[in-house]
Amino acid sequence: MHEASLAGSVLRIVEQAAVREGFARVVRLRLAVGELASVEEAALRFALAAVMPGTVLDGAQVDIEIVPGRGRCGCCGHEGALPVLGLACSQCGAYAMRPTAGLDLRVVDLQVCDDAG
Ligand SMILES: [Zn+2]
Repeated sequence: MHEASLAGSVLRIVEQAAVREGFARVVRLRLAVGELASVEEAALRFALAAVMPGTVLDGAQVDIEIVPGRGRCGCCGHEGALPVLGLACSQCGAYAMRPTAGLDLRVVDLQVCDDAG
């Protein structure tokens, strides 16, 4: 399952930040998920809930924002919204839209607490 490995990556990123920045607990985690990242929000939340207990993310509130997909046409250079991959260019009709945004999952922000207790 795609979302389970993503949840694992998110946890690793946060744990590395915890070591680097010396915080003990995350209160709030903000994620940005690209519209083209093939991530289902419900599945991601479920996968995160499974890996969070006992880690720095235990009990953290998770906010997920969706980043709209965007693309650029390789034929005419038109740039526009790209809600799904494989769409034709709305300007010239070529199937040459290459995604430029909304492909990945990112940790945007962490609200942390230094108190381990
Ligand atoms: Zn085009």
